Amino acid sequence: MGKALIIGCGGVASVAAYKCCQNSEVFEEICIASRTKSKCDALKVKLDGGKTKVTTAQVDANHVEELIALIEKEKPDVVMNLALPYQDLTIMEACLATKTNYLDTANYEPEDTAKFEYKWQWAYRERFKEAGITALLGSGFDPGVTGVFSAYALKHHFDEIEYIDILDCNAGDHGYPFATNFNPEINIREVSANGSYWENGKWVETKPMEIKRVYNFPEIGERDMYLLHHEEIESLALNIPGIKRIRFFMTFSESYLTHLKCLENVGMTSIEPIEFEGKQIVPLQFLKAVLPDPASLGPRTKGKTNIGCIFRGKKDGKDKTYYLYNVCDHEACYKEVGSQAVSYTTGVPAMIGAMMLMTGTWDYKGVYNIEEFDPDPFMEALNKWGLPWKESFDPELVD
Ligand code: NDP
Repeated sequence: MGKALIIGCGGVASVAAYKCCQNSEVFEEICIASRTKSKCDALKVKLDGGKTKVTTAQVDANHVEELIALIEKEKPDVVMNLALPYQDLTIMEACLATKTNYLDTANYEPEDTAKFEYKWQWAYRERFKEAGITALLGSGFDPGVTGVFSAYALKHHFDEIEYIDILDCNAGDHGYPFATNFNPEINIREVSANGSYWENGKWVETKPMEIKRVYNFPEIGERDMYLLHHEEIESLALNIPGIKRIRFFMTFSESYLTHLKCLENVGMTSIEPIEFEGKQIVPLQFLKAVLPDPASLGPRTKGKTNIGCIFRGKKDGKDKTYYLYNVCDHEACYKEVGSQAVSYTTGVPAMIGAMMLMTGTWDYKGVYNIEEFDPDPFMEALNKWGLPWKESFDPELVD
């Protein structure tokens, strides 16, 4: 059917590439392009032999001109931005210049301020519409599947959703005292920022890790979880009419938080550059360099993830509660695609989002968050491509 250009070759991109190759009817060809081409070439060796043709390229996605040249050469139907959030705008610019559909899994973030906001990308709405192309924002798990779950709950189970609690539990154990499951810089920026949630039309801000709950996760058991700001809250607050409150909770072990507190106390999580031996370095980037590479955690990680949404609202005048979630097993993911579940749960929805655009199943022109599209074909694809969902009508609630 067509061709995708994957930008980035980390944990998420690798899973997406595997999944595209499994889905060769849609992805006849993929080009994997990243800053370090040797990583793309190593991945290609693992992927070769199937029906999907795999090529590789070098690109620095911070430079629009380089991206335009690559897209013009490769002529993909969709660009899958699976690099880092810092590259979102340059890649969107290149897609505009070449009239190519765009997809990502994380919203744009300026390198010097840890802000998770959509305003920079939403500013492209008119230009994408005029160019007759689609930008699908947030096609990972959270954001991503959580938005699809919300649209599905609204379409099939509620007249009005009043409360959404998004619960992200990673009960995986990699055996290291401290490591992050995806890009450490992005992960630590996310958890050391203030928390916030949406209530009655406005943001309520909390101190980092101020709100803690214990939740009994299906197929996992009791875990401590903490309220964080998370980017999909911003778009869901706009796209779910009548919503009263949206919160996001993520589980962290005591050991993880103790290490993080210590690193914070000594200044290692700062994104403010400091001078070291005559050179400017960003402490958090240095920390990333000494921590285990998330890709290396795959073979060591055991246990499961459970990510989902608890909805409360009204159906036919009555109160209703509904919980939609996916449980993923780290070892099973590693066996299938050589990555643990955190990359897997992001890479699979990235492939599905690209499929929705390539097949024309989702064809609005402009810049859209994932919950703005019809959730049904995506929900079906989740079951087919490795992230089956489960539902419960009587879940434990979060107070
Ligand atoms: P990794 O750090 O493993 O991979 C990032 C990749 O991007 C690397 O291959 C890196 O290249 C490449 N890259 C970085 N800068 C550039 C550049 N300037 N030009 C070209 N390539 C570049 O990250 P992950 O795979 O874990 O995460 C990928 C994305 O997915 C991130 O944006 C992350 O925020 C998002 N994510 C989303 C989730 C969701 O549920 N929505 C969950 C988890 C992650 P190099 O190898 O040279 O460093």
